[in-house]
Amino acid sequence: MRTPINAAVLEQPGRPLRMTEVLLDEPAEHEVVVRPEHVGLCHSDLHYVKGALSIELPAVLGHEAVGVVEHVGRAVTRVAPGDRVVATVTPSCGICPSCSRGRPTQCTRVDRIRYRERPKLVTRQGVPVEVLGGLGAFAEAFLAGEGALAKITPDVPSSAACLLGCCITTGFGAAVHGAKITAEDTVAVIGCGGVGIAAVQGARIAGARRIVAIDAVGEKLGLARTFGATDVLLAGSDPEATVRQLKELVTGGVSHAIEAVGRAQTAELAFAILAPTGTATVLGLMPEGERLSIPADALVYGDRILRGAYMGANRFLSDVEMFTDHYRSGRLDLDSMVTAELPFGQINEGFAAMADPATIRIVLGLRAAPNRPSTLDRISQKGAA
Ligand SMILES: [Zn+2]
Ligand SMILES: [Zn+2]
Repeated sequence: MRTPINAAVLEQPGRPLRMTEVLLDEPAEHEVVVRPEHVGLCHSDLHYVKGALSIELPAVLGHEAVGVVEHVGRAVTRVAPGDRVVATVTPSCGICPSCSRGRPTQCTRVDRIRYRERPKLVTRQGVPVEVLGGLGAFAEAFLAGEGALAKITPDVPSSAACLLGCCITTGFGAAVHGAKITAEDTVAVIGCGGVGIAAVQGARIAGARRIVAIDAVGEKLGLARTFGATDVLLAGSDPEATVRQLKELVTGGVSHAIEAVGRAQTAELAFAILAPTGTATVLGLMPEGERLSIPADALVYGDRILRGAYMGANRFLSDVEMFTDHYRSGRLDLDSMVTAELPFGQINEGFAAMADPATIRIVLGLRAAPNRPSTLDRISQKGAA
């Protein structure tokens, strides 16, 4: 028996999502039905809405979610109805060689974990509906494997907790699990959107002695300072000038650069601003087929490292506990990262507001009236002014 639920469906890129009824399957053995409380709007979702990334259509996007477990498949043991959970797009099996080596984002059995005989969602007419990242959280309910869900305590408000699902996992994770930053390090974070701000906070909590925020938009630099950047650098159109300015700020270059944009030029910039023995960690997703060009001399003579950190090289199931403790102690500021909270029905307005440089994260409330006044009006008024 399928359950009718309302979902925001992507039918055609470049067009608004359509709020409509779809039918959700029952959970398979290891699956869980989650009723989302809050879901964040991520730039990856926006790329699919605009058509910059492609997905089978129709589709339900949404992958940064916190919610309550409604019911569970008969083999589920880790969570129970009533538990509060955060979801991830990087589930892991726990027993493959990558998982055993502590690299769950490189789990080799993801396809097997995600395999199911029937589509999770279908339209009223029986047409299969794709779900982004195995979730599809822009809906009144979604199905996830139990390995994609981390329990979270009730003291983290859901408007903030949803950020742990993608933005914090990726940015904080890249700083702590990818770059493995320590108190000795000088760090540059390129791109100060939500993920970049999360990387700045990760670097601060890891104890970095300098954190240089780099962005092409001045307003974002001001925000980055409030989250722990010690220095800021406005990137102009000439990357060589940016490299020069960075090396004046931090003599000789930084020991770690984190790229949170997802462009070849900014990934190359991350490598160019490294001191000898430095590491550039690239987390931004790039279009298929994109290539990077780096000077071989700088790589070999300088013992430099260029590495990726897909989804922050996270260890999701234990990371959520770590994030919660840092939030509780006041070190990890999630609340100030939520620029606006909107009702689910205003999802398209939310995507439009992401263009405003003052936006860090916009979250949708799915269950009740927002527990804070919407700040979207303020943003759009400012944008119009
Ligand atoms: Zn995301
Ligand atoms: Zn695995």
